[in-house]
Amino acid sequence: MSDNSKITTLLPDNIAALTAYSSAKSEKLTGTTWLNANESPYSRTPNINLTDLNRYPDPQPQQVITRYACYANLEPEQVLMTRGADEGIELLVRTFCSPAKDSIALFLPTYGMYKVTADTHNIAINGLTQELLLKGTVDEIVTAVADSKLVFICNPNNPTGSMTSLDKIRKITQQLAGKAIVVVDEAYIEFCPEQTAASLINEFCNLVVLRTLSKAFALAGLRTGFTLANSELLAPIRKVIAPYPVSTVVASIAADALSSDNIASMRRQVTILNSLKAKLKSWLEQSPAVIKVLSGEGNFVTLKLKDKQSFNIALEQGLVMRAFTLYGENDWLRISIGNEQELEQVKIWLDGLSLTSNTVEQELS
Ligand SMILES: *Cc1c(COP(=O)(O)O)cnc(C)c1O
Repeated sequence: MSDNSKITTLLPDNIAALTAYSSAKSEKLTGTTWLNANESPYSRTPNINLTDLNRYPDPQPQQVITRYACYANLEPEQVLMTRGADEGIELLVRTFCSPAKDSIALFLPTYGMYKVTADTHNIAINGLTQELLLKGTVDEIVTAVADSKLVFICNPNNPTGSMTSLDKIRKITQQLAGKAIVVVDEAYIEFCPEQTAASLINEFCNLVVLRTLSKAFALAGLRTGFTLANSELLAPIRKVIAPYPVSTVVASIAADALSSDNIASMRRQVTILNSLKAKLKSWLEQSPAVIKVLSGEGNFVTLKLKDKQSFNIALEQGLVMRAFTLYGENDWLRISIGNEQELEQVKIWLDGLSLTSNTVEQELS
């Protein structure tokens, strides 16, 4: 075989500089309780009956589009189905940004895929902060966005759970009209549906809302998301997207998930998950092993540990959560809201930690 080290010399600089994105699932952890990827604990086996797999699929499956438009209170031409919300992020960057020239604005800490996508397409990052987004004035935010083409607002924000008000999103979008596109990532909006920015799409042609079936709809394995925007904004994206992006199998399962019965059942599950989140939050707030709890929206709670070692104790118990470095501190943890039994494992872990910290205190005194 020829010298394969030469392959690297063929890479563009931005690709050579990439470090592989470590998603929750790419880390090869072993465990029994999985609370690290914000997945839903509810799983359903879909009943599908497929006959025409010899044919190419509908590029945008009509039934899925009409059902999602109805669910989101929009027109079908304002809905684009994608391979997860992640593909929506990628399509926006590929469609609207010129490599080696444009930048995207993000409010850190936030979802990691915006940066990964920008890096792989040689697009610069204008790294702003959540603090600016939440506490800054609209003028300050718009000034900091400067000439960035896309402005990603994750709402609720992963992993902090914080919310940007609709009023602020409206004003930012208004001031950036003709200059930039505001992308509101609503991956977790089902957990606080009254806060959606979807209705603003009818007011602004520079607003995009990203949605997914991976979280509240409990279909992370399906890889289905939606890019919501006016048809003028979606038109160029429809030229960039692959010709047959959604398989017939996926379309069939997605259509079923969007039936009115299944939407009602998703909403019942959200109610249960939100109440389990409140319970978990109160345990964490009472635990001496936890220094800070970010109280926010979404199907997760993020916290700062007193001792980073507590994370390894959880792993030894088969309890897998997501460790994070936030604000330059590597002792943060995000716990996804699982079912009652899964959260009981978290309780057992927390109780064990407070026992050891009490013992240490007693030994010291
Ligand atoms: C999970 C998540 C996504 C990805 O959704 P997929 O549809 O599974 O690609 C997008 N944005 C945020 C903020 C997420 O947490």
